[in-house]
Amino acid sequence: MVNKESIHRSDILTDRALPFLTFKNGFLEKKDNFKSSKTRDYFKVSDNDWNNWKWQLQNQIKTAEKLKEIFNITQDESEQLIKVSKKYRFAITPYYLSLIQKFKPNDPIYLQCIPQIDELNNVGKIDPMNESQNNPAGTITRRYPDRVILNVTNSCATFCRHCQRRRNIGEKDIYISEVCLEKSVEYIKNHPEIRDVLITGGDPLTLSDSYIENILIKLRNIKTIEIIRIGTRIPVTLPQRITTELITVLKKYSPIYMNMQFNHPLEITPESSRACLDLAENGIVLGNQMVFLKNVNTDYYTLQLLNQLLLKIKIRPYYIFHPKDIIGTKHFSISIEEGIHIYEKLRGNTSGLAIPTYILNAERGLGKIALNKDILKHVNSDGTVILETWEGNKIIKNIWEE
Ligand code: SF4
Repeated sequence: MVNKESIHRSDILTDRALPFLTFKNGFLEKKDNFKSSKTRDYFKVSDNDWNNWKWQLQNQIKTAEKLKEIFNITQDESEQLIKVSKKYRFAITPYYLSLIQKFKPNDPIYLQCIPQIDELNNVGKIDPMNESQNNPAGTITRRYPDRVILNVTNSCATFCRHCQRRRNIGEKDIYISEVCLEKSVEYIKNHPEIRDVLITGGDPLTLSDSYIENILIKLRNIKTIEIIRIGTRIPVTLPQRITTELITVLKKYSPIYMNMQFNHPLEITPESSRACLDLAENGIVLGNQMVFLKNVNTDYYTLQLLNQLLLKIKIRPYYIFHPKDIIGTKHFSISIEEGIHIYEKLRGNTSGLAIPTYILNAERGLGKIALNKDILKHVNSDGTVILETWEGNKIIKNIWEE
């Protein structure tokens, strides 16, 4: 029944919503008005070429010289790039590079794809998840009872500067051999308890349609496999790869779940939206696994907007990963305490559909631990807290440390 109290409460809720709405409208207006892409102008290609994923891969930007030509960068910046890329190579699709609005280290796209001098900081571990110690056969990683990861390549359309698997990126692209694929498939066949396979890499969608189909046929021929998942950043960095032909292949091996990694609302473009809607409307179930990255998405409004925009293109926000302790990525780290504070602000301010689970991947491959504000009640005076893995293993974390 309409009454004074309800109207008063409604006014309070409107007041609560207004600051975010102002942010959202301002952000979207600026995004829509951004027209001048130096990258697009530099390449001077037809729409046909630009929208062709093979053209995009053939024209990946991989050298400081090329970036200098496009963005007119200084000698200093160029020397830095060369220094970092000698240790960690880089490659960026023209499309993803074209999303940079300002060629400066406060641009969220720049931060994710342009090598930065901070990467030479040696703090962190090469393989904190112990993936190399959880590899029972072929290119399988096994950390859980009923599911495995099948790594099929180290190649990616764009190498993310925060990548947790940067140790695998190496100096050249490697694709799984037929022999290695057979060994991996044999292992899965011999373990009927495995019902779910995550195909990942690198990025599996850099493989040809026929090779993707080859892998899918082999997996679907295993009677005990119920679910096939694909972990990919292609819809974000090379949405042109989501072609009718690829979707035709994927549809044949349903149910296929695809988890992607949108980290910022600037990545939701007409191209990436079209790719995701095409996938979803053809029965591929989409989820997003964002990573908290300092100065990219560690403010609550950006996070809320990203998750709301994902739902509009039929992607369910699934996980937010706490940054892992990977060597060369320390500059992206935040503390668990900060992460929880940002994350918890979503609660109530937006619907549950737009709230993923915040996850800490326990070191040594011990599995995922959900993080939320309850943890803050059990923190010791020195910032440590005991967390429990799904198997009951206790791990100690300092929630104040980045
Ligand atoms: S797409 Fe994934 S595997 Fe490739 S560089 Fe980015 S995070 Fe790493």
